[in-house]
Amino acid sequence: AVPLVIAVSTAIAARSGFLIRDRSAFERAKDLQAVIFDKTGTLTEGRFGVTDILALDGAGEIDVLGAAASVEAYSEHPIARGVIRSAEERGIPVHPAGNFRAIPGVGVEGEIAGRIIRVVGPGYLAERGISSGDERAETLQRQGKTVVFLLEDDRLTGAIALADIIRPESGEAIRRLKAMGMRCMMLTGDNREVAAWVAGELGLDEFFAGVLPHEKAEKVRQIQERYRVAMVGDGINDAPALVEADLGIAIGAGTDVAIESADIVLVRSNPMDVAAIVELSKKTYRKML
Ligand code: ADP
Ligand code: MG
Repeated sequence: AVPLVIAVSTAIAARSGFLIRDRSAFERAKDLQAVIFDKTGTLTEGRFGVTDILALDGAGEIDVLGAAASVEAYSEHPIARGVIRSAEERGIPVHPAGNFRAIPGVGVEGEIAGRIIRVVGPGYLAERGISSGDERAETLQRQGKTVVFLLEDDRLTGAIALADIIRPESGEAIRRLKAMGMRCMMLTGDNREVAAWVAGELGLDEFFAGVLPHEKAEKVRQIQERYRVAMVGDGINDAPALVEADLGIAIGAGTDVAIESADIVLVRSNPMDVAAIVELSKKTYRKML
C-alpha cells in the first residue's frame, strides 16, 4: 500500500507539472546537495537564431550560409535547425549534401561537388591545428554566441554565429535551489566562452564546457564523489548522465531517449519545477517521520 502522504504528493506533483516515474528517486530528492544542468535545451530554450555570418575566404555570406545549410539538412541538432531556418528566411535554396554524417558533440559533414564540407565547433579546429584566424569569431563567442565553422576539405571558408535564449525561469530556479543550500552546476558540449557567459548570467557555482557526449556520464560520476546530485537534461547526449545521477530529471519537451532515462519528467519544461520537486520531497518525507 502507498502511504497517504505519498499518494497525495504524487497528485500534487502531477498537478504541479512533473511526472514521477520512479518513486524512490522522488524520495532521494530531499537529500540532494547539487544540481547539474545541461545547457542547450535545458537552461536555454534550445532554439538558435543566426546572428552573424563571417565570409572568410573570398566567398560571400550567402554562399557560406547556403553551404552550411546543405550539410545541416539531415541533422536534427538545434544548431542545424537554426542554420536551415535562417537560409530559408533569406530565400537561399538548400540542396542536401551527399554522404551526410553527424559527429556527436563535434558537428556534421557531407559532400558537395566532390568536396568534403564540414560544419563544426571550435573544438574541431583546435584538434586539427586550424587557426580561426579571425578576431571577430572570438569576440562573438565572448558575447555568449555559439560559433560554428564552415570548412571545405579542411580549409576554413566561413563562420556562423548563433544565439540561443536563456529560459526566463532559469535564473529564479537557480536562486531557489541555492537558497536551499544546493550547489548549481552546468555541463555543456559548447565552448568555454559561451558557457562562461551563461554561467555568469545565471549565477551558477561551477560549469564544465567542451564536454563530449560520451564524457557527460563520467563527469557526473566525478561530481558524485563530492555531492549527491540530480542531473537535468533534454538531449540524447544527456541520457547516460541522467541514468548515472542520483536523480535524473528530463525536460518534457526533450528527446524520447532522455525522458525514458529519467526518474522525473518536467512536463512544463520549466527548470523552476526542479526546485519544486526538492521542496515537495522534503515536505512529503518529513511528514512521515
Ligand atoms: P550541448 O551539450 O550544449 O547540448 P552538443 O554536445 O550537442 O551540445 O554539441 C556541442 C557542440 O558540438 C556544439 O556547440 C557545436 O559546436 C558542435 N555541434 C554539434 N552538433 C552540431 C551540428 N549539427 N552543427 C554544427 N555544430 C555542431
Ligand atoms: Mg541539451
